[in-house]
Amino acid sequence: MPNKKQKIAAVLALLVYVFSVLSLFAWLTGKPALYVNLTPFITNNIYPVSSIVLLLLANSLLLQTLQEKKYQQINTISLVLLAMIIAGIEFSSVAFSNRDFSINAYLLSLLPTTDTPKPLTFQVAAALVLFSLSCLLLYIRNFYTVYTSQITQIFIISMIITVSYGYIYNQRTLLEYTKEIGMTFFESLLFILLSLSMLFLKTNEGFLKIASGNSSGAILIRNMLPVIVVLPLILGWVSYLGFKYNFYSERFGAALLQSVTVMLTASILILLAHIISFQETQRKKAERETLRMQQDLAHIVRVNSMGELASGIAHELNQPLAAIQLYAAATQRMIEQTPENKKIDKNLESIKEQTQRVSEIIKRMRSFLRKQQPKVEKVEIEQCVDDVITLLQHKLYQQNIRVVKSFDYPIPMVKVDSIQMTQVILNLFQNAIDAMRNTLDRPSLITVRIYSKRRILHVEINDTGSGISNNEAEDIFNTFFSTKGEDGLGVGLSICRTIIEAHNGRLWFESKENEGSTFFFTLPLA
Ligand code: ADP
Repeated sequence: MPNKKQKIAAVLALLVYVFSVLSLFAWLTGKPALYVNLTPFITNNIYPVSSIVLLLLANSLLLQTLQEKKYQQINTISLVLLAMIIAGIEFSSVAFSNRDFSINAYLLSLLPTTDTPKPLTFQVAAALVLFSLSCLLLYIRNFYTVYTSQITQIFIISMIITVSYGYIYNQRTLLEYTKEIGMTFFESLLFILLSLSMLFLKTNEGFLKIASGNSSGAILIRNMLPVIVVLPLILGWVSYLGFKYNFYSERFGAALLQSVTVMLTASILILLAHIISFQETQRKKAERETLRMQQDLAHIVRVNSMGELASGIAHELNQPLAAIQLYAAATQRMIEQTPENKKIDKNLESIKEQTQRVSEIIKRMRSFLRKQQPKVEKVEIEQCVDDVITLLQHKLYQQNIRVVKSFDYPIPMVKVDSIQMTQVILNLFQNAIDAMRNTLDRPSLITVRIYSKRRILHVEINDTGSGISNNEAEDIFNTFFSTKGEDGLGVGLSICRTIIEAHNGRLWFESKENEGSTFFFTLPLA
């Protein structure tokens, strides 16, 4: 399916096609009204050869917009080649002033018209050759050919608009160079339509791909090109009107035109400089943000692979631990037969207890780290709290943090994924521990409260840490917001909120700076 811009290209090509057919029809049936130009711009005809070449090119453009068609490439290229041959012959006849070659002159002598048989003007013949060549380049699927073709079109449009200046403010711009009226208004209109159709055909390729990007160059070209083309047109016309209605002399008008053009161009440049530098700043900011996110992502990946690694190590450790337990038990039995070694017996008992504890920690760590599908089951939330305390024991010990459990027993069961719940509580504990890192003037204390009310389980985790300032309060649930610099990822709380909300609960907090924070979450009872 052609995209929107290709559809515009097709419509423009169709317009050229229809006008060319009309003009040819008029020539064939001897109805000059259809091919002679409109007043007040009458200067010349659209001659049969122009119509034929335009028709072939428009036809090829139309075919190009139908993307899937088989043999489309061959068909369009043969149409263009035909157009190119006709235009080339006509151009050489004009260039060498040899009327015998001119297809136009030949056709005019055959057609029912009183016009003297003559070749096309230099400008039209050259334009037709240029258009055919440029169409051919456009169809070859290569960046540079498409690029060249598009740049050519932009120059052609600019050129034709220069010609239009002549029509609009009565200065025959090109006439000064060639001493002949080269192109009719109507012809130039068809050329512009054809150029636009060619430009719209491949907006994602070549020069237009660059110009439609968001680089500074693209912004510059998008803003400046229309200004360069349209500004002199409007200014020239206005200054011409002023002169025509006797507001000032022609010389004054010319001076005015020059100074206003310079001033306006300078103002537009200043404005553009601002736009570009603003966009540049925005882009740099976005780039920095992306870089930070990439680093965070790299960290997440690292943490993730660490998890897998830890799970593997835990598995490996289980065997030696079991062996240690076994040896301790066996040695204990041997010692039992010699009762005087009571003290050794006691030590062995401790070894057994400690290895038991290590196995327990490893067991919980493994089940926490194992990647698995969420599994919703009836869970005692107290179990999750205990798991977290076990996992974080060394940190709590290091920072001399006391944990107080204030639970309303019996705690009703909730239907949740226990691993995810452990993760939520672990995150909240971790944040509490981090917040109390610099608490020196009061005891470091984490208080966990669990109670149920109206079939909803409430969990509160309070700390005596730094608290959360009003500024930060708005952001802490945002992904990647962290005040911990290198140590923080800023994803913990947003993950917690997602998990709790997925379980139909709510997560929020209250906090006082320099006193501490309480995080609350609720879960519907099973
Ligand atoms: P991270 O812990 O990686 O920074 P989180 O999303 O878990 O990411 O937390 C975001 C931010 O919220 C933390 O950087 C911290 O500033 C603030 N925060 C969270 N919990 C507490 C708390 N208990 N006390 C003080 N600040 C907290």
